[in-house]
Amino acid sequence: MFFLLFGLRTRDEIVDTTVATCEVCGWTAPQQRLARTTRFTLFFVPLFPVRPKRHLLRCGHCMALRAAHPQAAYAY
Ligand SMILES: [Zn+2]
Repeated sequence: MFFLLFGLRTRDEIVDTTVATCEVCGWTAPQQRLARTTRFTLFFVPLFPVRPKRHLLRCGHCMALRAAHPQAAYAY
């Protein structure tokens, strides 16, 4: 009997961190910029990306995630 194990794996990589005011909770807290990739896996081995890389901002206080432009400067 042969089982084919496949699926998707999403990973977040921290690009940088800066202190800024959160748009969601309003606190001044560390904001992590994340690069999120989703890859197709075969037998738990990630092979190739199935979605374009997305950049997100995560607040260190409320942990809210929101979209961020990859080259955006922190203007708030
Ligand atoms: Zn927040």
